[in-house]
Amino acid sequence: MILRGIAASDGIGLGRAVCVREENLDYSDVAYSGKESEKARLQAAIEEFEQRTSAMAEHIRQQVGDKESEILTGQIAMLADPFMRSQMQDAIDGGACAEAAVDNVCTMYADMFAAVEDEMMRQRATDVKDIRSRLLGILLGAASVDLSNLPTGTVLVTRELTPSMTVGLQKKNVAAIITATGGKTSHSAILARALQVPAVLSVTKVLEVVQDGDGLIVDGGEGIAILNPDERTRSEYLTRQKDYQARIASLKVYQNRPTVDADGKRYQLFANIGSAAEAEVAAQSGAEGIGLFRTEFLFMDRTSLPDEMVQYEAYRAVSQTMAGKEVIIRTLDVGGDKAIEYLGMEKEENPFLGHRAIRYCLDRPDLYKVQLRALLRAGAEEHNIKIMLPLVTSVDEVRAARELLEQCKQELSEAGLPYDKDIALGVMIETPAAALTADLLARESDFFSIGTNDLTQYTMAVDRGNAQVASLYTPFQPAVLRSIRGVITAAKEAGIPVGMCGEAAADPGLIPLLMAWGLDEFSVSTSSVLATRASIHRWREDEVKLIAQEALGLSTASGVEGYLKKVSAPEK
Ligand code: PEP
Ligand code: MG
Repeated sequence: MILRGIAASDGIGLGRAVCVREENLDYSDVAYSGKESEKARLQAAIEEFEQRTSAMAEHIRQQVGDKESEILTGQIAMLADPFMRSQMQDAIDGGACAEAAVDNVCTMYADMFAAVEDEMMRQRATDVKDIRSRLLGILLGAASVDLSNLPTGTVLVTRELTPSMTVGLQKKNVAAIITATGGKTSHSAILARALQVPAVLSVTKVLEVVQDGDGLIVDGGEGIAILNPDERTRSEYLTRQKDYQARIASLKVYQNRPTVDADGKRYQLFANIGSAAEAEVAAQSGAEGIGLFRTEFLFMDRTSLPDEMVQYEAYRAVSQTMAGKEVIIRTLDVGGDKAIEYLGMEKEENPFLGHRAIRYCLDRPDLYKVQLRALLRAGAEEHNIKIMLPLVTSVDEVRAARELLEQCKQELSEAGLPYDKDIALGVMIETPAAALTADLLARESDFFSIGTNDLTQYTMAVDRGNAQVASLYTPFQPAVLRSIRGVITAAKEAGIPVGMCGEAAADPGLIPLLMAWGLDEFSVSTSSVLATRASIHRWREDEVKLIAQEALGLSTASGVEGYLKKVSAPEK
């Protein structure tokens, strides 16, 4: 059986399915078994919770750090509160089963904490909710998969790949990933590419058709998975896997070369990262800088805000790893498909058009200034950090951010703390409003970076994660291409550098167009660095000019894509 989805991370993986199903925490069928027995069940569940949580805390302490692990040890301390425990026991005395006792008492505490106008207290509400669901999971025997301990050759089948799932995921054991949701530029896809694991996303009903232990072949380049393949298919794909690996190995010759076209004209080739640790991978991948550090991941794998010190250390680590090279760090891009539960953001009808990214941050100067201060301080030694604003739609937003940045500089000067006084402030061009006012924004910005993932979504009015409208979601659309060309032209006229950090920057078909229009910097996932360098290497200036002219004369996305695929097909 062939399962089709979105080709999200290149490569071929063969293995056996491990399915991560959502926990069902419904306890309506659980019968009350008497006071003593329910209390004993509760006690056993609490002990199990403590044991599992301290093991997780130790793992996180080793992998991430002390501060992060304290979140988990704090949960153990919360549950040890004698008052909370006696309330659960009273509930059992009153006829509630252990599950109902946990549910009622934790929900009461969570509601109480959530009602307080204090950030710390609200974070405790998130902790109690977490305790509730994990205790219920233990009581109900809901199986939880230990992702740090998967057997080798696992094909991970899950609804969504979240950043917290990737903590502890052992790449060497995961042959491939299939998810039921997410598009090519969803965060599931970006994480899979960062891990360099083949992935196919948006395979509807995959968790219904695939069972644990089923044999699977995943072709992440074609966007297909083959369920329980026969021997002939398996050996055919083993050969294809070898060919793919040989192709990747052949790119190694580009590892230490400069990024130049066939005429010797130089381009900058940067990498996109989602964590400080990934900067090491980027440096080894041959990237000449970081074109996008998505800082929201730093805010996501936890239950409370990272303070100035935690952020400073992360940004400084990247700055040091990339010493002598540029590091563009994007400020918190929360909302859309990136929820951060503890921020308590309101549910919105249209989250992609809502109170997100720069809009949210400007309304939360308390939180935003912590990040800006951490960035200013982190750039003090290497002077290689540049700050980038996400989802800008107006000049006002850039001015407001600059104003906050100036306030932060003032505060740091007063505190006598070192910081980068000349830090650059740039804008991500990822909305039609920004693209159409690129000339105005260029006057207020030190640089641009084009975010084609969102620019395509908003220009085409098409949800980037919705499989049903995926055929419209392509940067080959004439509307998107014209928008990109206009932004590059505006940046050139204003004399500021312009890069691209959306996934389109690594598309071999688009690369000649971007070169022809004068893009200065390409920022791609670490796994695409060498292939992008090879693509750039191949073209002469006169060739790309002709290709761009021809492509812009075509009126459909399929026409443009067909043409560009043909001209950029690998040379035989
Ligand atoms: C983009 O929108 O192109 C981008 C790079 O940002 P993200 O994918 O994180 O939205
Ligand atoms: Mg974006």
